Amino acid sequence: MSFMKKSSSVVYWLGNSLYLNITNRCPNNCYFCFKKFKNGIREFNLKLRKEPSSNEVIKELQKVINRKNWSEVVFCGFGEPLERLDCVLEVTGWIKKYSGKVVRVDTNGQGYLLNNGKDVVKELKKAGVDKVSVSLNAHDKATYNQVCKPEFENAFESVLEFIEKAKEDLDTEITAVTIPEVDISKVRKLAKRMEAAFRVREYIPCFW
Ligand code: SF4
Repeated sequence: MSFMKKSSSVVYWLGNSLYLNITNRCPNNCYFCFKKFKNGIREFNLKLRKEPSSNEVIKELQKVINRKNWSEVVFCGFGEPLERLDCVLEVTGWIKKYSGKVVRVDTNGQGYLLNNGKDVVKELKKAGVDKVSVSLNAHDKATYNQVCKPEFENAFESVLEFIEKAKEDLDTEITAVTIPEVDISKVRKLAKRMEAAFRVREYIPCFW
């Protein structure tokens, strides 16, 4: 049995992957978001008291990156990583230079709304990001607004635009979580039309 640490974790791990928890901010308010119900995962407390600087993330990574042969490093925590595009770019640059590991960003796909005027996908590609996993969770705007409760009025359209751009430059997958409001077969069809890979994420709260 493991006990949750009091101090918050910027870097945590599950299986063969290392995860980076760089922010707790997010422009969505999904009713199923784990941060509403849990403080973290396993012994890792993911509620940040303050956001770490890029250097602080790198320092934490240095402690564990050689601990085993991690298959990938994933930006995925209790918030949307592209709230902090600069941090993602800087830390990715360091990972690529230091270890060459595969880097994935798990995102809600609202990077263009969060980083006005920036070509987010091109910047991710240039920094060395290999993959993006985009939580779409809906086949249309009404469902998206119902389950994800976005701050931005045109969030759904912008997520689709992000996917269109990402698949040109990055290994891109669309994901959806199994909740009653989401018609998985319709999201799968949408992913097929967009020619992007699709993965269903089981909603298992007791896992956390
Ligand atoms: S997009 Fe992710 S982090 Fe943001 S509210 Fe939804 S589940 Fe939580």
